[in-house]
Amino acid sequence: MLFLSENYLWRESQSIKQGRTREGLTVPELASKLGRTEHPVDCKIRALGLRNTDTSEIRRILIAKLREQNETSCFQRKMLSENKARVLSREKYRRRIEQNVCVRCGGPQLPHVQMCLLHWAVCIGYSCGHNDEAFGQQLLQKLKNQNYKCALSGLELVPGLNASIDHKIARSKGGPLDDLANLQWILTPLNRGRGDLSVEEFIAMCCAVARWQA
Ligand SMILES: [Zn+2]
Repeated sequence: MLFLSENYLWRESQSIKQGRTREGLTVPELASKLGRTEHPVDCKIRALGLRNTDTSEIRRILIAKLREQNETSCFQRKMLSENKARVLSREKYRRRIEQNVCVRCGGPQLPHVQMCLLHWAVCIGYSCGHNDEAFGQQLLQKLKNQNYKCALSGLELVPGLNASIDHKIARSKGGPLDDLANLQWILTPLNRGRGDLSVEEFIAMCCAVARWQA
């Protein structure tokens, strides 16, 4: 079932004060026109006559109201269990930080980040549009293949300290996002310095710096 997103409905319902959308429809009318179902949270928010755009505040108020009314709908159970899961995961996160273990899996932490080697690599994978352990493993394999050396300077790469993934052909110049052939591990400061220069332009710039400073 497709739900209209809470944000979308809120934007729409707030755009005209009387709960009418820009097209002059009520929110449920709009939902039915688009062949979608209004999100249960929005139904509830409207039913309770709440006007608040802060979703965390909305959740807090809703949960309090539902408790007050002692409702036992599946909606309530879902809201409460979601909230409980959030509280639990926050708790777990806080405990893991205190215990100096990986916040994602509880495994041994790298010296400079609050994550294990694999989850650190998974986070690095975000910049390549990935959020999965398989891609993290591939990135780690690449780092191993490079013998933990920066592809540009040959200096030692330390995971969590100075290693970052670089797109040989920058994304802004049309380089592929997650093609391993377009990726290389380099030092973080070099990556920042390179920006979207091509590798050749960057090397030429480094040579100019070295010549001028010599
Ligand atoms: Zn981990």
